[in-house]
Amino acid sequence: METIHTIEAKALVDLQKKDTALAALTARAAEVPVKIAALRKTLEEKKLAMNSARQALVALQAKKKSIELNIAEAEEGVRKHQRELNQVKDNNVFKALLTEIEHDKKVKDDLETEELGVLEEIDQAAAQDKIIQGEVKLIEGTLNTEISALEAEGHKLAHELELANAERAAAAAAITPDLVDKYEAIRAGKGGVAIAPAHEDPSNGKLSCGGCHMSMTPQKMLDLKKHDTLTVCSDCRRLMYLEKTIYGDKDAQPKI
Ligand SMILES: [Zn+2]
Repeated sequence: METIHTIEAKALVDLQKKDTALAALTARAAEVPVKIAALRKTLEEKKLAMNSARQALVALQAKKKSIELNIAEAEEGVRKHQRELNQVKDNNVFKALLTEIEHDKKVKDDLETEELGVLEEIDQAAAQDKIIQGEVKLIEGTLNTEISALEAEGHKLAHELELANAERAAAAAAITPDLVDKYEAIRAGKGGVAIAPAHEDPSNGKLSCGGCHMSMTPQKMLDLKKHDTLTVCSDCRRLMYLEKTIYGDKDAQPKI
């Protein structure tokens, strides 16, 4: 099979155009859920960061509370030992109590120093918490708007695909099954493109295959110029056609 001469040549070319458009539409529709998932992931990650910031702040506040309890305990220890000081007569016990009091005061000082550090950390954590809450609030609105727009686009594309598939099926059903089988067999092995337009070099009028860009023999060029003719590319084995012989020089382009 080097040439197919059939009054259905134009119908086959139209079918290829429909299939090409359908493949592009399918690819666009397939991108939508991928884009939505990416936006959702971005939002989720930001929310996780927001939750960690809040947890860090809450943990620091709990730490501060615990230090304050320990300070109160140390103060209570100092007061208790000072009361006991007034009642003891034994010098050794007196000295021991003084040591206890010194110890409690040291503990209290250390805890207060630690608390100052924690207060500083709380300030930083609270600022971070506020920043990230603001960021989430800001991007959540934007991302949700983008997601809604993509969901609407997804529905629109699904509807367009349904129509395009139905039109494609009707167009294929109107062509002789043998021809459609040949077309499908070539298409399956050629990345979805069974029929390619021949390109004409305006400087010398030479034709090349629109599928693989190889120039063609003078015989094939002659064949292509005959009406209702598709020619097999000797290189990529796709069917080629010449736009002006299939549709006529002045004819409007087909509605796809
Ligand atoms: Zn080719």
